[in-house]
Amino acid sequence: MKIWLDPALLLYEYAISNQGGHPTSEPDCPVDCPKDDGPDDRAPELGRIDMHSIFPIALTEVDRYYLHTRTFIRPQALHVQACGEDLWLACNPSESGKVVLMDAEAHALLESFRTPKTLRDAIAGSSICSSSVEQGVELFTVAGFLQEPTQPALPPALEQAQTLAVWFHITNACNLRCHYCYVDKTTEHMADDTAKQAVDAIIRSASRHGYRHVKLKYAGGEAALRLPQIIAVHDYALEQTRQHGLELSASILSNGTILSVRAIQQLKERQIGIMISLDGIGAHHDQQRPLLNGKGSFALIDRTITRLLAHDLVPYINVTVTQRNLDELPGLMAYILQRDLPFGLSYYRDNACSTHLTNLQYRDAQMIEGMRAVFAYIAEHLPRRRLLSSLVDKADTNGPYQYACGVGRNYFAVDQRGGIAKCQMAITQTLTTIQADDPLRVVREEQDGVQGLPVDEKEGCRSCQWRYWCRGGCPMQTYRMTGRSDIKSPNCAIYKALFPEALRLEALRLLKYELPVVC
Ligand code: SF4
Ligand code: SF4
Repeated sequence: MKIWLDPALLLYEYAISNQGGHPTSEPDCPVDCPKDDGPDDRAPELGRIDMHSIFPIALTEVDRYYLHTRTFIRPQALHVQACGEDLWLACNPSESGKVVLMDAEAHALLESFRTPKTLRDAIAGSSICSSSVEQGVELFTVAGFLQEPTQPALPPALEQAQTLAVWFHITNACNLRCHYCYVDKTTEHMADDTAKQAVDAIIRSASRHGYRHVKLKYAGGEAALRLPQIIAVHDYALEQTRQHGLELSASILSNGTILSVRAIQQLKERQIGIMISLDGIGAHHDQQRPLLNGKGSFALIDRTITRLLAHDLVPYINVTVTQRNLDELPGLMAYILQRDLPFGLSYYRDNACSTHLTNLQYRDAQMIEGMRAVFAYIAEHLPRRRLLSSLVDKADTNGPYQYACGVGRNYFAVDQRGGIAKCQMAITQTLTTIQADDPLRVVREEQDGVQGLPVDEKEGCRSCQWRYWCRGGCPMQTYRMTGRSDIKSPNCAIYKALFPEALRLEALRLLKYELPVVC
């Protein structure tokens, strides 16, 4: 009996349980910003682990007693799909994105638990040797694929996140004219005193609401146009957060055209993460991200990425997927995978500035077909790194989570004048300013416009098997297209079509890089 699984995730789970539970902060908004500032999945970078070094799992006497005295059942939410010849993958989308690949014997053992049974029953009903059945059951229980029948299927907690994330719109100017951009650009920058007052306001709200961590996303416009100001405000934020007992992390969202070596060194010294937007190779990128003078920007970005890698600063690549660049994405994937860059695929979101460009918006079938071509390319060039959370728009399989992002709860955008909006995509719709005593309270109490609702409250999502990974998609996009926050994403059909295919890629990755546990 053979079972493949990602040992890093198993160890991660172990570490989490020893720290008292899953992280409670939901992922970042991936629209023009990474889901994470570093690697695209939250499991620790443990390098290659030989599964045999941690398996059979060293169970305590208590664990062993539990295993031998309880009745188990395969949970309703477990997703099992055929994956090639005589192989199956299993995962529980109501839990973390742990994917297990198994052969026919292991699959039969798992399926035998469709009705409740004990380990003794499973051994009696199987033609496999008892020690193999025992090890298989042990592994399935650790992976969460077998549970006690009385164990309630609890939704993820609606706990207070630990992080207040803020979009810091340091400038409204940009040297590019990306066709899908939602920013109505001007030459206006954030003044130095406004930037400091913005930091003070963020810290006031963070302290007032009991956050432990503040995350700043330096953005625009093109944030790198104001690199000295970013460095100054970041140093001020570091000093102030320290004084208030808060942790600080930050990233810069850049178009990647003007980052000098000096700028890279300054960012690296301060551990400021970097996200670069890249939509294709050469002309395929240039067609939707031209410079202000109409010339292409790809060559400049390629130079920056090379520079960043030479300085051991690995950028997160954000790809905006539109109808225009869909067909060329396998070429971009080759570029990204050859350089082993973390990435995310963000589907274009219609906005007031770009809505007249009809060839950006995609139809469901186009997106599904385009993504299938991307997945086919990845299948042939599988990287060692886990990709599951990079593949389906803003879905995050590290959950389970109730919220797609922090909009209306743990997040706001500060514009270049110190105005405060719920989300960068509504940055002109300011609700208050940095002069407010507690800007986050104003954002939370605002009943108009987009609302951040748990996925369990969204029509169409409540019984969806993917809901704690998908979480209903970008609330702003849904609100813009439907006028509602309590309804499933307009991209729903795309997500449902692609989740099984993304899982298949993860299973293929396990098959390629992990040795099976042989029970
Ligand atoms: S938007 Fe669709 S795929 Fe996503 S949680 Fe809702 S029903 Fe499921
Ligand atoms: S609502 Fe705003 S913050 Fe949330 S995912 Fe959408 S664009 Fe990002």
